[in-house]
Amino acid sequence: MRIERIRLFVLRQDLRHSFETSSHRKSGIEHILVELTDAEGQTGWGEVAAPSDPYFGAETTVTAWEIATRYLVPALLGAEGEEPADLEAVWERIRGHEFAKAGFSGAVWDLYSRTRGLALAAALGGTRDEVVAGVSLGIEPSIDDLLAQVEVQRAAGYPRVKLKIAPGWDVEPVRAVRAAHPDLDLHVDANGAYPDDADSAAVFARLDGEGLTMIEQPFGPRELVAHAVLQSRIGTDVCLDESVVALGDLRSMIRLGAGRVLNIKVSRMGGLSVARAAHDIAVDAGIPVWCGGMHEFGVGRAANVAISSLPGFLLPSDVSGSDKYYAADIVDPPVRAESGLVTVPSAPGIGHEVLVERIERESSRTFDTAAAHVHGSALARG
Ligand code: MG
Repeated sequence: MRIERIRLFVLRQDLRHSFETSSHRKSGIEHILVELTDAEGQTGWGEVAAPSDPYFGAETTVTAWEIATRYLVPALLGAEGEEPADLEAVWERIRGHEFAKAGFSGAVWDLYSRTRGLALAAALGGTRDEVVAGVSLGIEPSIDDLLAQVEVQRAAGYPRVKLKIAPGWDVEPVRAVRAAHPDLDLHVDANGAYPDDADSAAVFARLDGEGLTMIEQPFGPRELVAHAVLQSRIGTDVCLDESVVALGDLRSMIRLGAGRVLNIKVSRMGGLSVARAAHDIAVDAGIPVWCGGMHEFGVGRAANVAISSLPGFLLPSDVSGSDKYYAADIVDPPVRAESGLVTVPSAPGIGHEVLVERIERESSRTFDTAAAHVHGSALARG
């Protein structure tokens, strides 16, 4: 593979149902799509799923665009390699900016697997034909609204429901959902909203009695010790998300006992290769993993389906159909879940045709190495 051309597109899609987490509410999602073209004219697509605002992590669409156009594009343009790792090596010395790197990593893997005539899942070492999908429900205006949303998703066949929680919206809504659905595979995600104090400890002690599959990221990203203490005090598994950005974070989690489950987000960890390495480390440590989402459009969603086909993904992943969130997909066929199962495509690459014309037509900002001057100064080698 030799990368001859790179195009970037900023595309916004409205959410069908606005989504609220412990930090903010959103009605639309803006992601950057990456198209790589090799010397043979084969293309590969990736998605930079950085949120618009720096509330999940430090990265945003704006920072990802800057890093992409100033560093990643110039480093990758003209680069050559046999394996994805050969091309990913060009951004090894760039610290952080995992979401931006993940979009490029996805495009490299899609291109590589299309070139080899392999499904992305097979190229990554996946072993499943279908992936169990769970859904994530935001903070709703009332408990009745939440119960109605749970009904809709259960009726759609999703076997696992995750509830976003925050101080003031935790024990009561969880108990209401549990009372209505005694056998539901239910878990909660705080996105790090709780301080490490006695009030929080009391909340988690009460949630511990609700038969939750896991409590995800109760404390801030850097609170590994607080997570370890909580895990030693409750029977419910603690799952880490925001705390594990690099493989070193995962090793620390394991050594400290800071959780018994890992949410692998391809975007948060900097791409498919790192996500696969995290999977391998977790499997060795006996830690089950699942794939979290960032409201990906079809390109990123298909990559999440592919990584979720690896054997250590033992828990339902956030890979629900695009139709749960968006009116239309940017890939054909759209990513769909049937009775809570998503079929892992067997066609080459991500296994879906990318709707390039729609992306070209609807993007608010584009970048094309064939048309634009590529920033040179920031690339300085050495
Ligand atoms: Mg999470």
